[in-house]
Amino acid sequence: MIQDVRALAKAVVDLAAVASNVRAIAAVTRTPLMAVVKADAFGHGAAMVARAALDAGAAWLGVTSASEALALRRAGISAPTLSWLHRPDDEFDALVAADVDVGVSTPTHLHATAEAARRLGVPAMVQLKADTGLSRNGAGGEHWAELVARARSYEVAGSIRVRGVWSHLADADIPGSPVLRRQVTRFEEVLGIARDAGLQPDLAHLANSAAALSAPTSRFDLCRIGLALYGVDPFGGRGPDRFGLHPAMTLCTSVVNVKRVPAGTGVSYGLSHVTTKKTTLALVPLGYADGLPRTAEGRAAVWLAGRRCPVVGRIAMDQCVVDAGDLPVAIGDPVVVFGPAQGDQPTVAEWAGWAGTNPNEILTGIGARVAREYLHEMVMT
Ligand SMILES: *Cc1c(COP(=O)(O)O)cnc(C)c1O
Repeated sequence: MIQDVRALAKAVVDLAAVASNVRAIAAVTRTPLMAVVKADAFGHGAAMVARAALDAGAAWLGVTSASEALALRRAGISAPTLSWLHRPDDEFDALVAADVDVGVSTPTHLHATAEAARRLGVPAMVQLKADTGLSRNGAGGEHWAELVARARSYEVAGSIRVRGVWSHLADADIPGSPVLRRQVTRFEEVLGIARDAGLQPDLAHLANSAAALSAPTSRFDLCRIGLALYGVDPFGGRGPDRFGLHPAMTLCTSVVNVKRVPAGTGVSYGLSHVTTKKTTLALVPLGYADGLPRTAEGRAAVWLAGRRCPVVGRIAMDQCVVDAGDLPVAIGDPVVVFGPAQGDQPTVAEWAGWAGTNPNEILTGIGARVAREYLHEMVMT
């Protein structure tokens, strides 16, 4: 499916890779999985990825916001879904009516959710979030006992049901981290506090991709999988990895201009790059508005004519220049910016390294001008 055949570039998303990643992760975790499809499934397309992940056995979907959760429902996806970041005046009525579990971190949000449920006459499904050390969302310290007590009284009154207790890890991608061990211990304590207060959550969950794959004690009843779902090794390994993950996205385009230039030719804004010998420059119609980070200047490469060729000079808003050396390159030749690491194609992890960021930021930064094309849509039910 090509959404826009006129687009200069496309992100080809292989849904069979998403499905195979779900199976590979489940084989390691042996725990039910939540496919985290926030931020349009890390730029891959939320509804498409959600269907592929569910079809491959994922039990839950996770999103950040009410608008993301409701978009999945509008797409006809009725699978169990948790949404976890809300304004205090957010659309709790719509979430409860759409049977979306509400992640709750404060008494303010708990009250608003219970009020919405009371208006609708059905109990809201709530998953209470504890802060076990990340110091972001979640209730920490004595606030946890207070949140739990309030939740229990709403539960007794019939306006909510606490289906889950959960938290988020700070540095699970650092193998053997003592922080992760402390957070697991603290999570067990907060679960005990919840049960002592009379709550009976069906689901306790803590692990993200990195923890799910590497720290068995963090798995509990459900693992929330983002990055690994998209086939990126959360530990940054390159090449064949331990988990059998396959990158789902290939970012590709084609050469739109070619010129043979002499040594001493300045290239792109500021002429920050000057050729050192006679060479061929290929113009690639992708720039920072499409998600190629400017900060990758001087390090980045793309796949062209069967080789890795360096991106030279400044990455502009809409385009960048590739030095193809003496390779036979013509207008219209295919370019892979990053891909599934076939041959020596650059990976999204390498782009992240070149730009000094993480693969998540590269994937979620792929711009709206880049068309999304899907392979293996037929694997879905
Ligand atoms: C994004 C997110 C995840 C997924 O994390 P990965 O490291 O990409 O697997 C899990 N849980 C929460 C709360 C998140 O915000």
